[in-house]
Amino acid sequence: MSKFCPHCGEELVDSAKFCKSCGRNLENIQFSKPDNASNFTVPAVEKDHKYAIIIAYVLALLIPLFGVFAAVYLLTRNDSQKAKTHGKYALIVAVAVWIISFVLF
Ligand SMILES: [Zn+2]
Repeated sequence: MSKFCPHCGEELVDSAKFCKSCGRNLENIQFSKPDNASNFTVPAVEKDHKYAIIIAYVLALLIPLFGVFAAVYLLTRNDSQKAKTHGKYALIVAVAVWIISFVLF
């Protein structure tokens, strides 16, 4: 485990009392990651499946069978929580439209 200097964002060992980069006293400081450190410490940038999400909704409304496939595609995107959430909604919409179309026709 490591912590980060709140002044300059330098990565430090837990026992550090002074920042090895900027030299500031680190005692009695609540440690949290500074904004400028988040760029390289948080690689989990979610992929944007914007177009797949839009296509899934359109298909769900127009062609529910394909909408289900598109929704399942989104649900299996493990790199994006957003895609999964929208995949779930698109699946619900697709199934709902499917059922309604059976009832009406
Ligand atoms: Zn520092």
